Amino acid sequence: MARSVLIRNGTIVTQDSGRRVLSGDVLVEGGIITEIGKVRGGADEEIDAMGAPVLPGLINTHCHVAMSIMKGMADDLPFNDFLDRVFAIDSDRQDKDLLAGSRLGCLELLTGGTTTFVDLYYSQDVIAQAVKEAGMCGVLCWAVLDQQFTTQSGVPLDNCKSFFSRFSEDRNIVPGIGLQGVYVCSEETFMGSRDFSDRTGALMTFHLSETRGEVYEHKEKTGKRPADWLSSIGFLNERCLAAHSAWLTIGEVRALAKAKASISSCPVSNMKLATGGVAPIPEMIREGVNVTVGTDGSTTNNSLDMFGEMKTLALLQKSSRWDPTVVKAQEALDFATVNAAKALGMQNEIGSIEVGKRADIVIMDGRSPTLRPISLENAVSNVVYSAGRGDVRSVLCFGEVVVRDRVPQNLDIGSVIEDGQRAMEAISANKA
Ligand SMILES: [Zn+2]
Repeated sequence: MARSVLIRNGTIVTQDSGRRVLSGDVLVEGGIITEIGKVRGGADEEIDAMGAPVLPGLINTHCHVAMSIMKGMADDLPFNDFLDRVFAIDSDRQDKDLLAGSRLGCLELLTGGTTTFVDLYYSQDVIAQAVKEAGMCGVLCWAVLDQQFTTQSGVPLDNCKSFFSRFSEDRNIVPGIGLQGVYVCSEETFMGSRDFSDRTGALMTFHLSETRGEVYEHKEKTGKRPADWLSSIGFLNERCLAAHSAWLTIGEVRALAKAKASISSCPVSNMKLATGGVAPIPEMIREGVNVTVGTDGSTTNNSLDMFGEMKTLALLQKSSRWDPTVVKAQEALDFATVNAAKALGMQNEIGSIEVGKRADIVIMDGRSPTLRPISLENAVSNVVYSAGRGDVRSVLCFGEVVVRDRVPQNLDIGSVIEDGQRAMEAISANKA
């Protein structure tokens, strides 16, 4: 049984249906939020928020966490050279390198206020170990693609199914399906995944229309743009989470909305790779697509920083539309919290600070000048436009304090950094 924790004196950004911001306390008992407001009595542990924002744990909906040890190894390259370089590094990595990268990435996510993330990769059983050690929540989607394109042994979808059955009861792991994209997944692979998802409720995440080349090549091959094609084969539904979704027509946006699908916009990755497209977020919101936000991996961002991502998403939309009213601060925060929870089918568990929900909570730094002055009116704006992940002081996940006063409580920061360093040096030596 988790200890009880009382967070005192916070500016609570609840993200409840009224998007209320309240001054007060949050009581956590048995891993669950049991009281919000003026809480009488004590708890096993009390944390004084000193007036700082208290947020629901952020949810990063597109990541490749194991790539954290490849940070800075494939920068400033044209897209095809970038892919060749990453594939060359990635193809001969060992499980211990994956584990080192995943621990490093989990530490970066958690200390930056992200408590749940969606990951698309192979060997998710290795990544799961890091997630569990960190005490956070991973929605781990095993990479699925046609057998002819993979270095996985066996059939990727079968590997995914096996991973799913091994981890479906795990507290920290939500296993899912990670389709690589239309360029390496046939109709059979998509629909086989869809069948498995229909039976199990598994999330299906996939890269969609990240580059213009992908769209044109698919159109040449099938006569349809990728999202139109996915719609035509009957793949899209409410368990779909499409990453990037930058090069979409309004017809494709409507197809996603009709299917009740979600997207994960990755603005920093798109800008860094200069893939050109800007996801049509205002149209998605208008048509009813559920919009969320993700960092993508450490070779394309390169930081797993959800505060940076929320701000960049809002600014990119405003700038490209010549309209400061699109993607308001409240919407950007919604993408990273309640919308993301809905995309994962976890809206009753996470995404907001409400009685009965799981206690995934971020407590910002009450002494940070970045967040001051603060009021109930400007708190959301300060969080999105002014704060950075360096302003995260303490983090609860599953009701347990996993970061206390900036110190991770489960992973040993020294050995995570040392192992990550060693793994990076080993793969660099191989490629020299
Ligand atoms: Zn990706």
